[in-house]
Amino acid sequence: MPPLRPNLRGRIMILEYHRFGPKDHRWVRAYSSFDHDLQTLEAQGYRPITLRAYSSGHFATPRGTTPVVITFDDGSNNQVKFTPQGKLAPDCAMAHWLAFSRRHPDFPFRGVFFVNPGPGGDSAFAQPRWSTAKLRMIVRLGGEIGNHTLTHANLGRVPRSAVEREIALGQYFIARALPGYKIVSFALPYGVYPKPRSLAWRGDWATSGFGRRLPAQIRWHYRSVVKVGASPAPSPYVAGFRPHFLPRIQVFDPNIGRWLRYFQLHPGRRFVSDGQEHAVDSLPKLAPRSRRR
Ligand SMILES: [Zn+2]
Repeated sequence: MPPLRPNLRGRIMILEYHRFGPKDHRWVRAYSSFDHDLQTLEAQGYRPITLRAYSSGHFATPRGTTPVVITFDDGSNNQVKFTPQGKLAPDCAMAHWLAFSRRHPDFPFRGVFFVNPGPGGDSAFAQPRWSTAKLRMIVRLGGEIGNHTLTHANLGRVPRSAVEREIALGQYFIARALPGYKIVSFALPYGVYPKPRSLAWRGDWATSGFGRRLPAQIRWHYRSVVKVGASPAPSPYVAGFRPHFLPRIQVFDPNIGRWLRYFQLHPGRRFVSDGQEHAVDSLPKLAPRSRRR
């Protein structure tokens, strides 16, 4: 592959994984396919960053490389699994990525996990005993935790009070496991916005009467909101960047291969780093090309 010239206006893929298992399905990625995805991305010059880094502009992958955000929804056990002794089990996506990054230090672990901490607040990743330890390990190793509501509610189908409760309690239980950690990213369950849409990124919920141990008020303010589909995301450096409406690319065959080929065929549409951080919204929008007559 010839070296790519910096292109701060190009697009960035935010990949979206769900479950993992022995075989590929629409919502399940085989571990072997995940290994292959990481190899392909690394070989084609992609370098992982968190969503927090992407939407704040604070990322500087090496000159000539393209950042990629790798997200995991719903907090299943096969994303991050612990042994009965409380160690990371080898058969989970996180262990596969960590093993890959030991062989390829230019592709460090930067996984972004959108979790539903569940009614009791302790069921992210489906091993209640280890839920807090897992969240802490992800952050310690360079990953990110985002809110995905308490119970994966369809926010377009419940009343406003339930929307507020779902977002507030999802955030509350994540924050309880991660003292001092600021949650800045939110993934819409099913990709559905609440009404009004701004509740997905900013709001507050008065907890009165809900639980004695909760604070009186829970507020949220998120920098990024990600949807479910279906295209590469814009550069955060271009004017008009709208981080509350970020598209993602679902990883299943043949979808992921199609997008990787797209950027091989059209390298000029791909974000290519100049090795430096820039301010969000700092590049003026290009004037639309005048139509040929
Ligand atoms: Zn989900």
